[in-house]
Amino acid sequence: MDQDITRREFVAAGAGLVPVAANAQAEVKPAAKERIVRLDLLTSREVGDWFKTNDAIFVPHGPISGHGPWTTLGVHAHGAEAVATLLARKCNGLVYPTVYSCFAGATRLYPGTVPFSYEFHIQLLKTVVRSLHAQGFGRIFLLCYTNPEDAAGLIAARDLFDIEGEIPVASLVATRGMSSEPVKKLLGEYQGSAGEAIVDYAALRLLNQERGIAEPELAKVGLKGGQDQNPEIREAINVLRSRGTRGFRYDSEREHSSHGTVGLTWKGQPDIELGLKILDALADYLLPAVDALKKHRDYLKEHPPKRIEKQERLGP
Ligand SMILES: [Zn+2]
Repeated sequence: MDQDITRREFVAAGAGLVPVAANAQAEVKPAAKERIVRLDLLTSREVGDWFKTNDAIFVPHGPISGHGPWTTLGVHAHGAEAVATLLARKCNGLVYPTVYSCFAGATRLYPGTVPFSYEFHIQLLKTVVRSLHAQGFGRIFLLCYTNPEDAAGLIAARDLFDIEGEIPVASLVATRGMSSEPVKKLLGEYQGSAGEAIVDYAALRLLNQERGIAEPELAKVGLKGGQDQNPEIREAINVLRSRGTRGFRYDSEREHSSHGTVGLTWKGQPDIELGLKILDALADYLLPAVDALKKHRDYLKEHPPKRIEKQERLGP
């Protein structure tokens, strides 16, 4: 009870800081009427009934990793869960509770970052998928927002297919949709810089976890990108990363702080509305994967694997 009051006071205090939170209550209420999609919030009887009409579940995953002064530690995971929630609503799917035990890349020196090895992250995703599959889920989507966690999703999905009997799992990356036409069109009408910050605050609203914008004056202005290493070593790191990969670390708050703006207006309304539209467009971009996995799974069932024979005619 005490915690509830504290949380409400916290949100109310945040609402006083920035105008975008002013209509938060009006926005949250309709969202609360949406179908419950998160697996842990349903009863087994409800899930049993749902299984009669669907078999798709989304597993959002993303790290708790430092993102500078005005973007929260969970931004990647929030983006992933928000897109997964929208996808589930669009296709009558379900959402597994977000996996936060993830590889956190170069951010471990920011207070609050909780890093895990890729090896563990991959094993965890595989374990979740195996259990969901054994439980009867017929299409499983590992869904992350961006890198570096996308690599874990990729490896888990490929291993589970190739090494473990063609399990019906795919790995999705939400930011692949950022270059789609609908998103480009939305971004063209924004005076600020739409990046992880605006997506973070929009995702938190969508997930009924809205909070006031941290450091609102900084968040409205943003910072120039590309400053993410000390100038002394920046070129060497860029050489390595542009030609392959190399681990590195952020040593100052400024280095990993350029995540766009939030707290401006867009078409006369708070830009968080733009963030919500971006999330929806990202979900639309991923949506065809839901049917595609069904088609591929069914095709494979009809075409069991067999050793490749010499082809008399190879064709053109
Ligand atoms: Zn990030």
